[in-house]
Amino acid sequence: MKHPLKNLEQGMAGEGLDALLVTDPKHVYYLTGFASNPHERFLGLLLVRGEEPVLIVPALDAEAAQAASSVPTILTHRDTDNPYNLLKEHLSSTKLGTLGIEKEHFSVARYEQLSHAVSVGSFSDIGPLLRKMRAKKTPEEIRRMKHAAELVEEVLRRGLEHVKAGVSELELVAELEYLMKKLGASGPSFDTMVLSGPNTALPHGVPGKRVIQPGDFLMFDLGVYAAGYASDITRTFAVEEPDSKLVAIYNAVLAANEAGIAASKPGATFGSVDRAAREVIEAAGFGAYFTHRVGHGLGMDTHEYPSLHGLNEDIIETGNVFTVEPGVYVPGLGGVRIEDDVLVTESGAQTLTSFPKALCVLHL
Ligand code: MN
Ligand code: MN
Repeated sequence: MKHPLKNLEQGMAGEGLDALLVTDPKHVYYLTGFASNPHERFLGLLLVRGEEPVLIVPALDAEAAQAASSVPTILTHRDTDNPYNLLKEHLSSTKLGTLGIEKEHFSVARYEQLSHAVSVGSFSDIGPLLRKMRAKKTPEEIRRMKHAAELVEEVLRRGLEHVKAGVSELELVAELEYLMKKLGASGPSFDTMVLSGPNTALPHGVPGKRVIQPGDFLMFDLGVYAAGYASDITRTFAVEEPDSKLVAIYNAVLAANEAGIAASKPGATFGSVDRAAREVIEAAGFGAYFTHRVGHGLGMDTHEYPSLHGLNEDIIETGNVFTVEPGVYVPGLGGVRIEDDVLVTESGAQTLTSFPKALCVLHL
């Protein structure tokens, strides 16, 4: 398999680009192997057609970049320097007709500074190209994603031991996030969510001081970063005696999750995965309470291309990794979501997450 940077270099002519400037730190990591969070400082990978690529990093990152980056030419700037002058010097002999940038990432302030320093004919958005490249995972990326999924499942398994009388949502979040680092993850891939009872009816609820009660449904949505890649899993449990209405919802959501996974085949559309899951929930009479898309791409970012909504007619390819996470949320009663991470292979979907999905009753 060709290195993504080589693919990008070869794709430049076809895209009509004289040069491109990649500034999203995740894209820089993907293309060079150098992972960093530059905060407000300037980080960029500059690629001029026919020339060697150049990585521009803050001076304090020079050593780390030299150790990790597959791009050997590294330019640095100090906090007192104007990084756009570096670009100006480097590009002084280049005529830039069209420069590719990530329009969703490049701020207006940066655009103005760049335009002031360098004369550019026109700007072209390279975000979609990079997003599509990233959506097709390499074997090494898949290996890392499997590891991130295994780690989060071990966190969940051990975290469940802390579900006891008197424990609150926030205390469970604290245990889970402690376990993540204890077990070797870099940290959570998003804010860990533990919701109980009526709070489970909020798809994006915020964990609080509510104490777990008998009769609650208890929803865990968590993920970790490990070796630069994210996992993302949701499981919903019953506490003591389960409510019969919530059990009916659980069965519908589980069937929808399985239908969505079964529909995740190369050649199908991303939208068909959403529709397959949604039809099951609609047939069970809960369609009005399934208020979000069925899933999202997963990789270096917890949410990345593609968006699995019903109107996405883009085609699923082998190597795509995304979540399948149908949910039903009934205000005042509660909700259920079941989320798996799915890898598309030639023979269909393979789930990276394998935590049991039959309704599990926890005892306090
Ligand atoms: Mn999730
Ligand atoms: Mn998710």
